[in-house]
Amino acid sequence: MSIKRSSFLRGTVLGFSAALMLAACGGTTPDTADTEADPAAEETAAGEAGGTLTVATEPAFPPFEFQAENGELEGFDIDLMTAIGETAGLEVEFESLPFDGIIPALQAGTVDAAISGMTITEERLQTVDFSRPYIKAGLAIAVAEENSEVAGLDDLADKRIAVQIGTTGADQAAEVPGAEISTFDSAPLALQELANGNVDAVINDAPVTLDAIESGNISGLKVVGELITTEFYGIALPKGSENVEVVNDALMTMMEDGTYAEIYQKWFGEEPPELPESAF
Ligand code: GLN
Repeated sequence: MSIKRSSFLRGTVLGFSAALMLAACGGTTPDTADTEADPAAEETAAGEAGGTLTVATEPAFPPFEFQAENGELEGFDIDLMTAIGETAGLEVEFESLPFDGIIPALQAGTVDAAISGMTITEERLQTVDFSRPYIKAGLAIAVAEENSEVAGLDDLADKRIAVQIGTTGADQAAEVPGAEISTFDSAPLALQELANGNVDAVINDAPVTLDAIESGNISGLKVVGELITTEFYGIALPKGSENVEVVNDALMTMMEDGTYAEIYQKWFGEEPPELPESAF
């Protein structure tokens, strides 16, 4: 049985082969934001026209953010945030951070925003604000191709599960009775541990696991069962930031004028799905 990524993202039951569809991600390198801050612009408050928005990301989460061979950041999130900056008249300067360091950085005010495939959760909303949802995703279980024992979450009891630290996948794994959990700094490292045969499963964001399998970055793995969760990604900002409105206004404009759909097409090869205005 094979399934397209499109139906996968809509939460359909699956089992799939290498026939998954993804936009040609490996090709041309789009211009990413200028990483050299203009010293004069740095003085300007973010949110004002002409200001600089320092945006954190953990760049090992393709196709949302990753480093190209030349070191440039690429991915859906990178294109989206760059376009938000253009729409809002802000310079966007990306800063790479470990995923579990992003919320502390927002709280400390050392960055102005974060775009990193970050799920809008009730728990995170207690410490940061989020933009409106910009992607619908969800968690999936990956196992070795030849594994016929694991068909869903219930089958993971007492198994060895690899996850990325500080993620919704890690939270989900923590709920599995008797599971032995190993934590990694990035999703590709967790998936590699599974490919190496050192764990029985990985719980990670479906689009990222699918991309790793489909692109050939990781081999010998498959995704089983249904999506465990439905999640929405948002751009995270410090609590009370004036930029929440700036980012939301830009997103809204881009959703109306086709810019959002164009970026979605580029990375996912299809029309974007309907998104709710808020995650809860
Ligand atoms: N969406 C997941 C989360 O927010 C994973 C994000 C990531 O690893 N970049 O926890």
